[in-house]
Amino acid sequence: MSETIFSKIIRKEIPADIVYETESVLAFRDINPQAPVHILVIPKLEIPMVSDIDGVEHASLLGKLFDAANLVAKNEGLAENGYRVVINCGKDGGQDVYHLHLHVLGGRKMNWPPG
Ligand code: AMP
Repeated sequence: MSETIFSKIIRKEIPADIVYETESVLAFRDINPQAPVHILVIPKLEIPMVSDIDGVEHASLLGKLFDAANLVAKNEGLAENGYRVVINCGKDGGQDVYHLHLHVLGGRKMNWPPG
């Protein structure tokens, strides 16, 4: 699958409001926030979607993604009241950008069930 706009953000070819970066993970504010805090946490490795994850091959990277999600949530002041971490997968899952990403949403009470 061809690269997405997130690859350009990783290479700093287009701007993004980056809040956290390591050699393997990048986190930046969503351009169309759905909550007072809405941050995307992505691997720098191009994994298109959840169904492309290999639990063994990507185990360490997945751990780093969740560590980053928890860290940015804490940095944004979400630790006390909680937050939502969402991964959309495929067309019916509501995925628009085919580069794996965790949505970290917080700063308001989330609704359930999701739409
Ligand atoms: P999804 O629908 O799960 O694939 O989510 C893709 C997300 O990427 C959406 O919430 C978009 O608002 C967000 N997005 C798309 N382009 C950008 C961008 N250039 N900078 C930041 N967020 C973006």
